[in-house]
Amino acid sequence: MLLKLKKVFQNFRFFRSLRVRLLLIIMVVGILPGVLMRYGIMQSYEDRAVALRTNTVQTQLRILANHLITYNYLQDNSSEVIGAELAMLSNLYDGRVLIIGGNFKVVTDTYGISQGKTIISEEVIRSFRGESLSNYDRTHGYIEMTTPITETITIMTDNGEVEETVVRGVMLTSISTDSIISTMDSLNQRAMILEALMIVVIISIAIVLSDILTRPFARVTQAINEVKAGHSDDSISVPDYMETVHIGDAFNQLLGRMKVLDDSRQEFVANVSHELKTPLASMKVLADSLLAQPEAPVEMYQEFMGDITVEIDRENQIITDLLALVKMDKKVAGLNITAVNMNELTELVLKRLRPIARKKDVELVFESIRPVTAEVDEVKMTLIISNLVENAVKYNKEHGSVTVVLDADHQMFSLKVSDTGIGIPADSLEHIYERFYRVDKSHSKEVGGTGLGLAITRSAVLMHRGSITVQSLEGEGSTFLVKIPLSHIAG
Ligand code: ADP
Repeated sequence: MLLKLKKVFQNFRFFRSLRVRLLLIIMVVGILPGVLMRYGIMQSYEDRAVALRTNTVQTQLRILANHLITYNYLQDNSSEVIGAELAMLSNLYDGRVLIIGGNFKVVTDTYGISQGKTIISEEVIRSFRGESLSNYDRTHGYIEMTTPITETITIMTDNGEVEETVVRGVMLTSISTDSIISTMDSLNQRAMILEALMIVVIISIAIVLSDILTRPFARVTQAINEVKAGHSDDSISVPDYMETVHIGDAFNQLLGRMKVLDDSRQEFVANVSHELKTPLASMKVLADSLLAQPEAPVEMYQEFMGDITVEIDRENQIITDLLALVKMDKKVAGLNITAVNMNELTELVLKRLRPIARKKDVELVFESIRPVTAEVDEVKMTLIISNLVENAVKYNKEHGSVTVVLDADHQMFSLKVSDTGIGIPADSLEHIYERFYRVDKSHSKEVGGTGLGLAITRSAVLMHRGSITVQSLEGEGSTFLVKIPLSHIAG
């Protein structure tokens, strides 16, 4: 039942408004008790009035019953005194009195209809046994009463005189309750007028209250809309309720996050443009100087063209790295997870990098502590290893060495790349994963860095839900440690 009601409520958009709900609650809480109270008061008034009327009439009937015996009315109904009493009674209560004798015959009917007839009803029989009965008929608006007409006689027995009550006849009386009903009607009318006034007041209060109570939420929406429309960049603050404070806080945090994202996007675009322009500017200088010397010797042409080719390669490298990074940022690119033998993969990457290391006279050592098979994306894993080892070679000293250690516990495998190179200054350690960050721009350029390698590496590690940390001492070398779960955690 409640669920059904809830469904009906939810189907009406109207009822989904907090304001409408508050309005309804205030109205119900305000109006219902009044209506119930009126109903209850009217009901108890009716019960009391009927009981009082029944009591009064029954007392008078008992007095009348005594008179009936005194005047021996059941045998001789000619007494004028009784006749007057009966007339008064039926006039006073707008009722009818039937006096029934011992043989169930009607001695007197104040309406004069049933005189001489025999009445044997359940109530009459019970009354002949001495019971006084009354019954209120609400629909027809009368109270019916049966009262025994009793006489107390003295009987002589062996034990002496004994008093005994004998039922000589029964009085069947019905009195109208019209006067009670009309009093109730007028009372009810007045109560209803008061109630209508009360309803008007409560509805007005409900409208005003529900408006005041829901206003802070409208203010929250307005503040958010202003930010959305771009009129304001400020954080919103609606401190009226705890709830609005929470909404405001959550929104402000979201706003903060968006600002950070926007700032980093702008910075990224600025960096990309700058990085892409640098090789172009070099090429332009080289080409311009050749154009300015039409007589330039072939050797100079060759040398400058060689330089231009280097710049083109660099531009190409930057674009390739950028594409790799963008792909990594796009979560949809997803991971192509397979079970990969990490020992073989590391071996393969190192084999590919050996010629570069040899050129710099750097020794490449691989220590495989145990066989490791992990659920990873092979391409991205290759990228991670080669970026780290490439850096370790690039930023190494002559005759230096790079050691790669592959190990695993029951949950993670670790790849440690240590070098005996130039190291990273402590204040640069927290920046090296930023895009385009390079500790020493001139040296980096010399060795062919774009500043994107570690950003790509870190993204790839995080996609595998792993971690990357670094320890470094300037002039002594660096150690990068990558830890990745052996089994892939989806989602
Ligand atoms: P790059 O393409 O310049 O190598 P990375 O993102 O790979 O860019 O690295 C960022 C910077 O961190 C590098 O320019 C370098 O200054 C520093 N760096 C990275 N790896 C090492 C290392 N093994 N030893 C010393 N410095 C390093």
